[in-house]
Amino acid sequence: MTALCRRRNALALLFLLLLSGSCSEKTVQAPGRSPEPAVAIEGVRLWDGSGAPLVSDAVVLIQGERIEATGPRGTVAVPAGARRIDAQGKTVIPGLINMHGHVGMTKGLKQSKENYTTENILAQLRQYARYGVTAVMSLGTDFEPMFEVRGPARPDEAPRATVFTAGRGFTGKQGYPAVLPGNAGIPVEVDTVDEVKAYLRELARQKVDMVKIWVDDHWGHYAKIRSELYNAIIAEAHRLNLRVMAHLFYLADAKMLAKAGLDGMAHSVRDRPVDDELIEVLKAKNVFLVPTLTREESTFVYAEPPAFLDDPFFARWADPEAIKALRDPAWGKKVRADPDFPKYAGQLKMGQQNLKKLFDAGVRVAFGTDTGPTARFQGFFEHRELELMVQAGLTPVQALQTATLNAAQCLRIEKDFGTLEKGKRADFIVLDADPLENILNSRKISQVWIGGREVD
Ligand SMILES: [Zn+2]
Repeated sequence: MTALCRRRNALALLFLLLLSGSCSEKTVQAPGRSPEPAVAIEGVRLWDGSGAPLVSDAVVLIQGERIEATGPRGTVAVPAGARRIDAQGKTVIPGLINMHGHVGMTKGLKQSKENYTTENILAQLRQYARYGVTAVMSLGTDFEPMFEVRGPARPDEAPRATVFTAGRGFTGKQGYPAVLPGNAGIPVEVDTVDEVKAYLRELARQKVDMVKIWVDDHWGHYAKIRSELYNAIIAEAHRLNLRVMAHLFYLADAKMLAKAGLDGMAHSVRDRPVDDELIEVLKAKNVFLVPTLTREESTFVYAEPPAFLDDPFFARWADPEAIKALRDPAWGKKVRADPDFPKYAGQLKMGQQNLKKLFDAGVRVAFGTDTGPTARFQGFFEHRELELMVQAGLTPVQALQTATLNAAQCLRIEKDFGTLEKGKRADFIVLDADPLENILNSRKISQVWIGGREVD
């Protein structure tokens, strides 16, 4: 620690003593801008996400909202007056970053624009936080209230996931998914290059973190945006210094989009196995992949009430009315009545095989789930996604890397997010067991910290 740091800590402590009188240390954080005592979490196994080896008996030292130092016990100088937390035997990993979520659209099992309020956005960001999802990219379904909430929690707000936004995404006139229930009026429907340019100017004015396009026809049932329009979106977005992620399904579209300069695939290719031609263009153009395997699972898993409805890790924070409705045989009947239902389990398998193939070929993979729409449960599904990635053939470390450093790099926020190194945000999960040994241990959450504050 530098002399300057030591002096700053000593001053902070003095200020606190003057300020707090007999207050307990916990209440001191409330005023927001007052200096806070350092926090030392001691005795943990630390996987910091940087690629460095696991450190046993480590100390994580937090100052304010940032990591001040990490390392083996004895190598980290814990300042006098620090709050010390004995976490012997626990494992600390960076918070999970979800590159593909939707925030604020759903209440219970009902998705609609009417649900989109500041209150609902914040409630969902707190739900992500409880599960250790400490940042989320909300991909293409956001309206005005998001622009006041975006970014990290303010000091006077309860800790919650940091949120990034793509504003409203693009589709064609009457295109998928604008025509689906609950999606009316959510995507921007364009029919000409002039309309593309006009709305991109609006997105640039909003300084969105990403641009979203939907390129799909759902097995030919709906209209797909024309290539002339998505080519224009990608070219014009790049001219405005914005990057583009696309919802896609078919291998042929993935190739056309990647050749046009797409920055990220928001889903796996699910109609057929990926081939060398796609691998080549993804690598040449450094396009990243966000697999969203749980999105596929959600299309068929409710045909019968799934076992996880009884899992306390799910049920503890889920809406009981939603659980009740999903158990109702009427729900399963509706799922099985979808004419494409027999294809859905195969789409998940195809997505998993393609994930493994692209990962092994060296394509960049960043974690994402597509949670937020009806019955795609924010927080819980992120842990299931890790499990499905491991089932696809990634190791637990590889799966966790996609959700930490990789996601931060693909979002270009790695200066502040994704690893637990000095100067980065103190966004992390304290686990009762080691997820590197068994990915299911990512669910054994003891504490979640966001911006140096513990989530209730
Ligand atoms: Zn989505």
